[in-house]
Amino acid sequence: MTHSRLLIVGPPGAGKGTQAAILADRLGIPAISTGDIFRSNISAGTELGLQVQSIVSSGGYVPDSLTNAIVEDRLGQEDALEGFLLDGYPRTPEQVVELDRILSATSSRLDAVVLLEADADEVVARLLKRAQEQGRADDTEDVIRHRQDVYQEQTAPLIETYDARNLVVRVNGLGTVEEVSGRIASVLGI
Ligand code: ADP
Repeated sequence: MTHSRLLIVGPPGAGKGTQAAILADRLGIPAISTGDIFRSNISAGTELGLQVQSIVSSGGYVPDSLTNAIVEDRLGQEDALEGFLLDGYPRTPEQVVELDRILSATSSRLDAVVLLEADADEVVARLLKRAQEQGRADDTEDVIRHRQDVYQEQTAPLIETYDARNLVVRVNGLGTVEEVSGRIASVLGI
């Protein structure tokens, strides 16, 4: 089985970004994080950054029309043609449909969806720690709780969609970075 077109999903604070970087490196594919794309545009003060700044800092979701266009553009770049690991996309049912459309245009398909599971209290504690260390504008306690609610309402249901396609591999996200990355590698058989 090949593992070159992957998603990583999980609640805010489950450690997706960290694990995505490790996994993508191991597989020699780009890790594409929509959250990182938005944050770098916000800090660079681009037009996109100005459009999404208040949404991202309040923990809401950026409109699908904007997000979908960004992902389509990124997946069309040379380095993503043979494989990619998407982190933070798709997050809504409409984004699932859009990703299917983007992939079918190149006759490609997803190989697996890595679901990082983590307990809600644990992830709030982690995010508050990250807030102290990195000062992300969306890492205050109220905003964290809002992001968790939005995740439960809008993104958690997508797991059933991918489960029905037999793509989901579940990984316990608690433990050290190395423990979790070891679990991911082993469930993917890499
Ligand atoms: P985390 O993994 O901590 O939940 P991300 O870095 O993935 O956070 O995303 C940060 C913010 O960027 C989200 O709260 C949201 O405002 C915006 N965002 C990222 N990806 C998407 C997406 N696919 N659709 C809509 N908004 C998104």
